[in-house]
Amino acid sequence: MSLPTASHVRQQFLDFFASKGHHIVPSAPIVVKDDPTLLFINSGMAPFKDYFLGNKPAPFKRIADTQKCLRVSGKHNDLEEVGYDTYHHTMFEMLGNWSFGDYFKKDAIAWAWELLTDVFKLEKDRLYVTYFEGDKADGTAADTETQDLWRQYTTDDRILPGNKKDNFWEMGDTGPCGPCTEIHIDLRSEEERAATPGRELVNADHPQVVEIWNNVFMEFQRLADKSLIKLPEQSVDTGMGFERLMMAVSGVKSNYDTDVFQPLIKFIANEVGLEYHGTAPATVNDQPATENEKTDIAIRVIADHIRTISFAISDGQLPSNVKAGYVIRRILRRAVRYAFSSLGQKQPFLYKIVPVLADQMAGIFPELKQQQQFVQRVVEEEEIAFLKTLENGLRRLETLEEGFRQNGSRIDGKTAFELSDTFGFPLDLTALIAREKGLSVDEEGFKKELEQQKSRSRNAQETEQSDWTVVRESEEQPAFVGYDQEQAPARILRYRR
Ligand code: ATP
Ligand code: MG
Ligand code: MG
Ligand code: MG
Repeated sequence: MSLPTASHVRQQFLDFFASKGHHIVPSAPIVVKDDPTLLFINSGMAPFKDYFLGNKPAPFKRIADTQKCLRVSGKHNDLEEVGYDTYHHTMFEMLGNWSFGDYFKKDAIAWAWELLTDVFKLEKDRLYVTYFEGDKADGTAADTETQDLWRQYTTDDRILPGNKKDNFWEMGDTGPCGPCTEIHIDLRSEEERAATPGRELVNADHPQVVEIWNNVFMEFQRLADKSLIKLPEQSVDTGMGFERLMMAVSGVKSNYDTDVFQPLIKFIANEVGLEYHGTAPATVNDQPATENEKTDIAIRVIADHIRTISFAISDGQLPSNVKAGYVIRRILRRAVRYAFSSLGQKQPFLYKIVPVLADQMAGIFPELKQQQQFVQRVVEEEEIAFLKTLENGLRRLETLEEGFRQNGSRIDGKTAFELSDTFGFPLDLTALIAREKGLSVDEEGFKKELEQQKSRSRNAQETEQSDWTVVRESEEQPAFVGYDQEQAPARILRYRR
């Protein structure tokens, strides 16, 4: 069976909304430079924040796009899930359609249904939808309008109430907000579906009953006294996980079995001389039960992380020791550790995957292809630097392991700090290795050591400074500026103020 291609499915989404009067715009860069509250774009909405806040008029009433998103820090952090589950990524594409004071619930719901069932031919009885059930505590009413609209398309047993956490969206403590409706799909076999109704598994972390699309209806303004007033103009903000949509239209059980990830996975498996079996532990907290599971996790982690690393660098964020740069360095080191420990890669190898990804994405995100060699060089240098100390750090951990076990199965703060300071192990890497060994880490102790070191010397400050300088130099690369200007002229203002 040949899989639907990523470029075809993505284009179907964009064409569908173009046919409904939407302007198609390119993805904004994943790296955020002018918003102190956000390191990376983490949703399709983020680049349009100013329009929703009324700081700027939207250039069009209807917009659709695919937005590169990263969920590795802050409010949305899916890093721990990646590789273990089959549908959370660090970097993913969020497909979205927007109405800025134009159409509202009725059209958004009608089009979502039409796209999923007519265009993508998803089976209607596998789809579940949710609506906001209301909140007694703060007096917000249930969104029965959405509930009623869905009744035109599906049966009551597939229209489920949802709580504030999943079904009410707020930008912050004050500002635009409103109820949302999520669409979930049940991809289990007929037998499994007969045994347990899908409605019982919605939002229950089942790997084959997953949320694919969220439609937010910006209806209210939250005031400082917490009350809600109706917005003069109502808007729609939707986000559909492209890799999950690919899983659904391909009829497979994992995002990694789609055309989005298969070219990467095949390349990695071939490069390390192993097979990818597609096995996954049942939950994130389950450790791999077999050698196949262990190598499969590592292959998935690497296929996932190389996307984050490559797009972050090509959008102007180099790995460094501070802030967003450190997030990228941590992810890169995490990938190196998996390649080293689970796949036996003692030499730099991640950088070799970059061209595969660049070719794959050339049609939609040409910025990576344009900077392929630069990205490869940065990745390879990072790999070389980290591999130098990784082995020693792991050996050091091993020699101390017995002691940890006798001491409450916990890695003490001093050791965690030493691993970070001397061997370049970010704290979350130490925590990951600990988890695999059935140990915990004294994170408070680690922080204390870190603080002490900072006050002991100004050295750390100087390192940060020099790393920062490297980051700035790279941003001035002509290739990067060129991308911004060519790809998204309207966005230069927002991102390069
Ligand atoms: P989930 O409950 O599965 O974590 P979410 O509710 O956090 O998803 P939203 O913030 O509503 O997700 O984002 C809109 C859509 O983006 C989701 O419906 C999903 O399809 C997709 N999505 C969210 N997080 C990820 C991720 N880490 N990797 C891939 N797709 C994602
Ligand atoms: Mg989530
Ligand atoms: Mg959710
Ligand atoms: Mg959601």
